[in-house]
Amino acid sequence: MSDFLGKDILSTKGMGKVDLEKIMETADEFAVFANKEKSSDLLKGKVLASLFYEPSTRTRLSFETAMQRLGGSVITVSGAEGSSLAKGETLRDTARVIENFADVMAVRHSLQGSADDMAEVAGIPVINAGDGHGEHPTQALLDIYTINKERGRVDGLTIAMVGDLKYGRTVHSLSYLLAHFGVKLILVSPDQLKMPAEITDFLAEKKIEFEVTENMDDAVKHAHVCYMTRVQQERFDDPAEYERFKNFYVLTKEIIEKYNSKMTIMHPLPRIGEISLNVDDLDGAAYFRQVKNGVAVRMALLAMVLGKA
Ligand code: ASP
Repeated sequence: MSDFLGKDILSTKGMGKVDLEKIMETADEFAVFANKEKSSDLLKGKVLASLFYEPSTRTRLSFETAMQRLGGSVITVSGAEGSSLAKGETLRDTARVIENFADVMAVRHSLQGSADDMAEVAGIPVINAGDGHGEHPTQALLDIYTINKERGRVDGLTIAMVGDLKYGRTVHSLSYLLAHFGVKLILVSPDQLKMPAEITDFLAEKKIEFEVTENMDDAVKHAHVCYMTRVQQERFDDPAEYERFKNFYVLTKEIIEKYNSKMTIMHPLPRIGEISLNVDDLDGAAYFRQVKNGVAVRMALLAMVLGKA
């Protein structure tokens, strides 16, 4: 996939290092527009369909901001209730309809594989903006971009991923991308929420050094980057199970200052309680800068699949 024109962005699993680097370089070029320093009409006349059938604040608004700040326009569906999905329309039919209106679509849906399904029939690029507990490729791309910006490199880093690694789709996509680098991973979760075997098998196959543990404090001692995640309440059948795990990990300023004050702290957001508010003032708290980086990365992706970058 070295030429992105017309391509879907569905998963990071098959994404090559050259493509990843190309996206990172292009995002750098778009940063001036994302940072509101300059305006652009590069995507004038192009339409993004933003189809969000599951809740979203950042991803949807970040895609829409990216499109509009490059001069393009947006049509949007937010929530299944107001759309024809509520009447029983299939996602495949929706894709066939939307391709008549838009030039590219970003889709979020609770079903794993939903974006793949739509991409199979759509004649325009489909970008997966989160498919259930599957993947969230654009978040992982902005995470790599952020690690690079915060630490100056990805190679040689020890990266801890903490929380709900089973249902958290961002850590799935991020793991696939980190496998391109010489990193050490510490996978921190309760046993019931551990990283799916499909992903740890992939890491092992790529000879990525990783450790599986329940102990967050130990991971914090060794990590350059700590990537916290929320326990994904909406994926639990049993509310009592969620209650059991929701406060399993809480990263506080005290823990960081005690063990590793130079650590970078990331989170795809929303945070529920897993990072204390007093962490926000630390230099290493990168989660709001991460959001800002998302606009540049999504600008790059939109421009690339539309053949404008
Ligand atoms: N916003 C991210 C996602 O959509 C992370 C999360 O919801 O916990 O996957």
